[in-house]
Amino acid sequence: MTKFDNIKTTKLLSIAADAKTIKGQKKGYLTGILYLAPATQAGVGDMCPKRSKGCTDSCLYTAGRAVMFSSINQARIRKTREFMNHRQEFMQALVRDIYRLKRKAKREGLTPVVRLNGTSDVSWERIKFVPENGVEKTTLAELFPNIQFYGYTKNPLRFKRLPDNWHLTFSRSESNDDAVRQVLEQGHNVAVVFNKLPNTWQGKPVVNGDETDLRFLDPSGVVVGLKAKGDAKADSSGFVVQANL
Ligand code: SF4
Repeated sequence: MTKFDNIKTTKLLSIAADAKTIKGQKKGYLTGILYLAPATQAGVGDMCPKRSKGCTDSCLYTAGRAVMFSSINQARIRKTREFMNHRQEFMQALVRDIYRLKRKAKREGLTPVVRLNGTSDVSWERIKFVPENGVEKTTLAELFPNIQFYGYTKNPLRFKRLPDNWHLTFSRSESNDDAVRQVLEQGHNVAVVFNKLPNTWQGKPVVNGDETDLRFLDPSGVVVGLKAKGDAKADSSGFVVQANL
């Protein structure tokens, strides 16, 4: 089987595969998430250009080293290599998978939504490709104007010229305070990992981001509080904010 044959049959999106997105179903949404290998783990470039040391350590430990030899991790590495080495075919396979998500959501009476950076920070909204049976280059947002795309990013430049159906929440790290201020001033939301959730942070109300993954439903101008999990609990880089409660 060639790489291209392989990608034709590969399911790229995980659908309702984790506890957080399953909670979203109770609110009427079916989430498809794409998990790539974070940072430089796949050896084909950096999937998170604005990552910090603290987030990388915490992410790689949870998503990487702990499951280094598992089939899940191998699949993420393979998808990442296909994305970097066979971009056109990868995007066409992703389109087929979004149609699959739409069909499944319709059968179940749910609204399909897509999160492409489960464990990466790629500027998907800027990627142009030629769809199957198409001739002109397009983007995912143009091809699926009725699908809500969403996710987190540490790249403040992604907020410029965002398509209407693309929602981003900025993600704080121990080394991007200036960008946090700038993004909050622009009225976007910022996700912060805390030891314990406070009521406010930097003068903004804190909402509990662990209740669902549906960030596009959050009101504007809030801080999305996430509780430190796994290895992040032992963070000493400043990535986890120690809230004084
Ligand atoms: S930017 Fe996000 S996905 Fe990338 S290493 Fe940091 S936490 Fe993980």
